[in-house]
Amino acid sequence: MAFELPPLPYDYSALEPVIDTQTMKLHHDMHHAAYVKNANAALEKHPSLASKSAEELLRDLNAVPEDIRTAIRNNAGGHSNHSMFWKIMKPGGGGNPTGAIADLLKKFGSFDDFKTKFNDAGAKQFGSGWVWLAAKPGSNDAQIISTPNQDSPISQGLFPIFGNDVWEHAYYLKYNNRRPEYLAAWWNLIHWDEINKRLASLKQHGEPAMSHR
Ligand code: MN
Repeated sequence: MAFELPPLPYDYSALEPVIDTQTMKLHHDMHHAAYVKNANAALEKHPSLASKSAEELLRDLNAVPEDIRTAIRNNAGGHSNHSMFWKIMKPGGGGNPTGAIADLLKKFGSFDDFKTKFNDAGAKQFGSGWVWLAAKPGSNDAQIISTPNQDSPISQGLFPIFGNDVWEHAYYLKYNNRRPEYLAAWWNLIHWDEINKRLASLKQHGEPAMSHR
């Protein structure tokens, strides 16, 4: 069973004006699609891994044969990260966090304090990568981290609660080199209900609600 590109849960134009239509088309149909295609090409060399989800592979990269390890790290990583990303945004999102995520964020101070810390970590990630709120499975103690390239927090033993993509392909058409402006505007899309579902899954299963094929 091959990995599949999940359809966007909304129209390409739905996240305007924060993320422009052309960026969404390229990001989903070209970038995410390429991660899926390349992950599948790598797994063709090792059919015994074909039943594993992206997250299972990323959780133990050392168990992945060396000849495809980098390809899986980058492309199963890209598949898992983007599959999360589309879902934790929605048109008309934003506002203050509610429920369990609101409680979890209190350790960072006010919601504005949290956003400042998260955005700073995203702005400082040199080159391509992601900024995350992540937690150890079985723990209620979340932390802000950034990862290079398509590296997943899962490979560090952490559960990605949510993350923002700071690759230039995520913002450059509209924001050019103004990454901090993109990071600040992005909060108008965040889908707190979906994030609370991910937190519930972290509590129950210690892993993402849905593993991605
Ligand atoms: Mn991306």
